[in-house]
Amino acid sequence: MPTLSHLLLIGKVISVIFSVSYTRLRLALRSLTHRLTYHPSSPSSSSEPLNIVIIGASFAGYHAARCLANSVPSGHRVVVVERNSHFQFTWVFPRFCVIRGGGHERKAFVPYGPYLGGGLERGSCVWVRGSVEKIEEEKNDNQDDDDGKDEEKGGCLVLRSGEKIKYEYLVVATGSAAELPSRVGKEDKADGIRLFRDMQDRIEAAKDVVVLGGGPAGVELAADAKALYPGKNVTLLHSRTRLMNGSFGPKMHEVAVKELEKLGVDLVLGERAQLPAADTETLSEVVLDSGKRIPCDCLIKCIGQKPNSSLIAELSPSSITESGHIKVLPTLQIADEAHRNIYAIGDVADTGSIKNGRAAIEQAQFVAENIVRAIKGKKPLEYHPQWFEGFTELTLGLDKSVMYFNDGSAEIILPHRSKDVALRSDQCWRLFGVKPFEDPSDLEAAKA
Ligand SMILES: Cc1cc2nc3c(=O)[nH]c(=O)nc-3n(C[C@H](O)[C@H](O)[C@H](O)COP(=O)(O)OP(=O)(O)OC[C@H]3O[C@@H](n4cnc5c(N)ncnc54)[C@H](O)[C@@H]3O)c2cc1C
Repeated sequence: MPTLSHLLLIGKVISVIFSVSYTRLRLALRSLTHRLTYHPSSPSSSSEPLNIVIIGASFAGYHAARCLANSVPSGHRVVVVERNSHFQFTWVFPRFCVIRGGGHERKAFVPYGPYLGGGLERGSCVWVRGSVEKIEEEKNDNQDDDDGKDEEKGGCLVLRSGEKIKYEYLVVATGSAAELPSRVGKEDKADGIRLFRDMQDRIEAAKDVVVLGGGPAGVELAADAKALYPGKNVTLLHSRTRLMNGSFGPKMHEVAVKELEKLGVDLVLGERAQLPAADTETLSEVVLDSGKRIPCDCLIKCIGQKPNSSLIAELSPSSITESGHIKVLPTLQIADEAHRNIYAIGDVADTGSIKNGRAAIEQAQFVAENIVRAIKGKKPLEYHPQWFEGFTELTLGLDKSVMYFNDGSAEIILPHRSKDVALRSDQCWRLFGVKPFEDPSDLEAAKA
């Protein structure tokens, strides 16, 4: 029997569906007008357009690039600097670390480009494949502010290649760094695919798999490994007593425990492992602080995601939190008066929101809007995290998953069965405007 708080949550979900549909319609209409009116150089001069540079093109940066490519005023353009060859679709990583054969891991690498809605062709967007190594300030001493202070007029990025790119506005969307199954850590698709296959081989060859970290990635991977190889010992080791304590409520913990135990995963909660600093691939056991020993010939670490905030740490050390995230104002500008033209969004930013793809996309929309407003001299909007950003689908075995909603007063968990071992990754390709799973770079690689 649903409670009142459940009914309220259902009502909220319905209103979010309407609000998202309305936003999509509004953005589609705006992008239509933009196509008809935009010109890269300003109507009053033929000089080079001014750059809004986005560093990183994953959920946050790629979506911000799409929004801006379809809304920047004439005279401005978006420049995206991304080091990876492809969009790396994190949600399917735990599954593709486990299942072998069928070439599914290729589906985690989505070609970049079409999602920008023709921005590359119109000149409202420029794509640069490269890694930003440094942000250099550039003050324009000739144009003083009303109060006599130098106003920040942007700066310059230095790429690993040595190339320099000027910016008037900068969006830092550099996310987090980790190892598989949380991030790939390789820039080229071919190297990434090799890593997935290595992990699949290690799990297949193992007798005792130990998964370290009971966040969503650890839970999903442990469940998949045990479901695919019921004869292996699979242990999920978590230092807290509650699984997924960071982003989910207590009910989700109960459901996950029940499903993992049903599969036969050994759960060790509230215990820490003592790991050697060096090579963990040749371990034969994992020793816990309590002295307990767990046999292990395959250790998979699902811990230790670190925000990629070093660029801002160097430029503005006071803008970095203890956890390494970038402090931002509700406008998503970094919390440093000297750098009001720099914004941070997604996993790298301390926005108070859950760190997930949906929140990153919401912030991307806000930042795009605020940069256009800043160019037009309008007051910025404020981003406040929304409960629906926490909506997630979590797999609990090869054909089982749950949809999860939590508005802070109620948790709704809807079980779901799916036969699609690739977790509907085709939908992600379609969303990004690419026919599943056709990658032009595969043809080029085959020709070479
Ligand atoms: C296993 C797993 C499952 C998940 N499942 C879900 C889910 O079901 N739903 C959900 O909403 N979220 C999910 N998430 C969370 C989601 O993946 C992250 O919140 C999201 O990826 C954050 O996006 P981002 O753009 O902020 O950063 P990231 O995805 O970390 O991307 C940062 C980008 O910046 C680039 N970059 C970094 N530094 C530089 C530089 N110096 N120069 C150039 N480029 C640079 C990187 O190459 C990368 O492309 C999951 C995460 C994991 C690990």
